[in-house]
Amino acid sequence: MKVLKVDPIKNGTVIDHIPAGLAQRVLATLKPRVSDIVMMGMNFSSKVMGQKDIIKIEGRELTQNEVNSIALIAPEAKVSIIRDLKVAQKSKVEIPELIEGLVACGNAKCITNGEPMQTKFRLINAGKRELACQYCERVFNADELKHL
Ligand SMILES: [Zn+2]
Repeated sequence: MKVLKVDPIKNGTVIDHIPAGLAQRVLATLKPRVSDIVMMGMNFSSKVMGQKDIIKIEGRELTQNEVNSIALIAPEAKVSIIRDLKVAQKSKVEIPELIEGLVACGNAKCITNGEPMQTKFRLINAGKRELACQYCERVFNADELKHL
């Protein structure tokens, strides 16, 4: 195993404590723009988690919606906003009670898959990451739902 050094960023976002192997999925939901400078470190050793992944995005501060997207995949992750090489804001991600417009309903017959409308899910169980569609009432694990 090779450990790579991940350079500190001047301004942007650091997503730490991503369970090992999930960095690519987390990054995909953030839809990196061509101009984004992204550093991804995988399989770092962590005292708490054994192994973890880290993502650093230079020049971009994540919105609350983007942080919520991360929570659906990696609720253990920690997001830090960096300004001028210092941590300006640190937060543990949390799945909100109401998840709007982030993921598509897994029920093909659900009205949200037939009409141009925003999806809405209620958080049923945070530990198991179970969400219920507000429209068809079906319950899904967050891993079953496609990110929009
Ligand atoms: Zn539905």
